Amino acid sequence: MTKHFDLIAIGAGSGGLSVAERAARHGARCAVAESGALGGTCVNVGCVPKKVMWYAATLAGALRDAGDYGFSVRREGFDWAALKRRRDDYVKGINTWYESYLDDSDIALLRGHARFLDASTLEIGGERCRADHIVIAPGTRPRMPDLPGAGLGIDSDGFFALDALPRSVGIVGSGYIAVELAGVLNALGAEVTLFLRKQQLLRSFDAMLREGLMEAMLDEGISILPMTRIAAVERQPDQGLVFDLDNGQRMSGFDELIWAIGRDPNTQDLGLEAAGVETDAHGFIVVDEWQDTNVPGIHAVGDVTGKAPLTPVAIAAARRLADRLFGNQAERKLDYDLVPSVVFSHPPIATVGLTEEQARAQHGEAVRVYQSCFTPMYHAFTSHPAKMSMKLVTVGAKEKVVGCHVIGIGADEMMQGFAVAMRMGATKQDLDDTIAIHPTAAEELVTMR
Ligand code: FAD
Ligand code: NDP
Repeated sequence: MTKHFDLIAIGAGSGGLSVAERAARHGARCAVAESGALGGTCVNVGCVPKKVMWYAATLAGALRDAGDYGFSVRREGFDWAALKRRRDDYVKGINTWYESYLDDSDIALLRGHARFLDASTLEIGGERCRADHIVIAPGTRPRMPDLPGAGLGIDSDGFFALDALPRSVGIVGSGYIAVELAGVLNALGAEVTLFLRKQQLLRSFDAMLREGLMEAMLDEGISILPMTRIAAVERQPDQGLVFDLDNGQRMSGFDELIWAIGRDPNTQDLGLEAAGVETDAHGFIVVDEWQDTNVPGIHAVGDVTGKAPLTPVAIAAARRLADRLFGNQAERKLDYDLVPSVVFSHPPIATVGLTEEQARAQHGEAVRVYQSCFTPMYHAFTSHPAKMSMKLVTVGAKEKVVGCHVIGIGADEMMQGFAVAMRMGATKQDLDDTIAIHPTAAEELVTMR
């Protein structure tokens, strides 16, 4: 017998779980289909285990600085395997919690791979299910390059599966994942070489952020090779992984190679042709501002749409979609402007709004920029100094703040409130009129001249 629901979400990740949860709260009969672990990328091989590793790496930095604050501390080792066991247990706890949460919320969990049979029918783990609304939320998977020996490398999923800290690691890529994993591995004691195919890392970020991070990473001992592509990989018994570079050079002695060159949408085996759902040239689902595809009753949220692939964005788009479909909120949709984001690099980066370059391209002479670079008090005290940089990008006579960018200790916890202010239309004067919290690094953002 074919089961029928008001809504089925394909994928129990950030987007799929959120749309089903919100729709169920509005009284809809919902199901989520999941072929892997509950929670999706963020919980299992993304934000959550990554942040655990980031905390561990941050602690390694604190141990290094402890002597400067009068502690007599010797770092006597680091048990990667023990940390991994605890991390995996933590993630398993979240998986289990989601299972009971779905149960409590009366959301059916349909285990197995979902595939369209037609525009309102799915086959999920051998069973046929129909729904008035189907939400495609299967996320993305790491991209692997097509070159000889590429399979000798791992991706970010493989990083989370590592049982031991590698001694020497090559990382290819220049985005979020490449710089985050480079920072973690370096702080925990690996020798890290980052291969950039172009000149810069985090190319779409404000110049102050990418230049500041490049300098800090070099300072921390990470080797960064710009304009360098690996053309072939092989494993030699006495040399570990050996890379042939496209400039003819050869590099050897690596224990691991991590590809962090972007992610591809999980749309290749969804039966989209059977439903007639349109994708773009890279396989991402094409949606309009309402998260609707070209087929009535079929919607998509999250990374599979290729728009701002971040967990809170998937959640927000999903909840708004459910509010519109089942909560009598006809105008509810996600505004993709001013999405704040943190790169958990060492040091962290936080950013929201336009880069200076984007602002100048859009608003020309009307742009005024306030920038500050200083040594935060924590580091004024350490023998291993590190700088902090902040930038406010403003537009027009009222100096409306259209961009806020910070790199340095604490940036990650600093930006959320400023993102609220910017959504509310804050001007430079509003920031100036706000009383500083002293002594903090964040106070610089309300005292810039
Ligand atoms: P996913 O979370 O990927 O969920 C999709 C689910 O669908 C998966 O569980 C998959 O198994 C399932 N699925 C796929 N195809 C099918 C099918 N045909 N049938 C049934 N099930 C299927 N974002 C942040 O905001 N902050 C961070 O710090 C952060 N760190 C990250 C670190 C890493 C290493 C990575 C890789 C990502 C990180 N992200 C971070 C991004 C974040 O994980 C994603 O934006 C988010 O998970 C997207 O949610 P989603 O629902 O679109 O997809
Ligand atoms: P990104 O898109 O961030 O970065 C990948 C970069 O790698 C590209 O921009 C490109 O930069 C470079 N690249 C692409 N192809 C190649 C190649 N063949 N060889 C060398 N370099 C290449 O992808 P990630 O995989 O790092 O992350 C995916 C997404 O997940 C992110 O965009 C982010 O939205 C999300 N994420 C969020 C995190 C957070 O919120 N903290 C953490 C991790 C991921 P260039 O063109 O400059 O060479």
